[in-house]
Amino acid sequence: MEIRFGGLLLFGALAAVANLIGGLLLTSSGAHKLNDRFLKYLVALGAGFMLAAIFIEIVPETVGIWTSEGTGATAAENIIGAMTLLLAGYLLIQLFEHTLAPHFHFGAETHPESVLRPSAAYKAIGGLLIHTFFDGVSIAAAFIVNFKVGLLVFIAILLHKMPEGFTVASIMLASGRSRKKANLASLAIGAATFVGVIAVAILKGKSASVVAYALPFSAGVTLYVAASDLIPEVNHKEEKNPMVSIVVFGGVALFYILHRLIEG
Ligand SMILES: [Zn+2]
Ligand SMILES: [Zn+2]
Repeated sequence: MEIRFGGLLLFGALAAVANLIGGLLLTSSGAHKLNDRFLKYLVALGAGFMLAAIFIEIVPETVGIWTSEGTGATAAENIIGAMTLLLAGYLLIQLFEHTLAPHFHFGAETHPESVLRPSAAYKAIGGLLIHTFFDGVSIAAAFIVNFKVGLLVFIAILLHKMPEGFTVASIMLASGRSRKKANLASLAIGAATFVGVIAVAILKGKSASVVAYALPFSAGVTLYVAASDLIPEVNHKEEKNPMVSIVVFGGVALFYILHRLIEG
């Protein structure tokens, strides 16, 4: 079953809306504490689910695409290309979220001293814009491989979208911006996700091999988000509440269950 352009846009829009909802959860008054508690479980669930999706879904599909024209030593050599793209995707986010933008972590911003300088908050959000663009690329590339892979990768990305919107809004508020600007920032990262989906959908028409490159590269970005953004946040929360870390395994289990239901 091949997904149509409209279908891709729909899934891209859903992921973008989840970013905005995450931002609104923070900026709408009253429910802040409750949301923080709910979102930390979502971060843990998303981390486990994303890790499983990368290793059990995206990497096998990538290897399949890159080894369709050879076996043995030739296949191994071809896979080096794919794994180089994966590593490059991972390092791109290290560069933009942490090398060029020194202060960034997922969740509620509790270090206003680090983001009070106007440039610090915008650098952090700039890094997130690049990452969320590739969230969209992941979704579109997976759906183009096939609908079932797309659905699993979409769920994986969706699970961290609300915490992501919350994170962005929280950086804006901590740096002294208004609620309106915080909402605009979560809208912007949603828009970047949507643009990522559109970019792949358009490029696919120009070159059939776009998915072969987009899939491993965006998997590297997703690996960074899961293993180096979300897991550290889980480990930070786990000091007070060991349940949060257990939920990571729940995310992996949920992936296996959905994988069996969708592909089985
Ligand atoms: Zn901080
Ligand atoms: Zn993301």
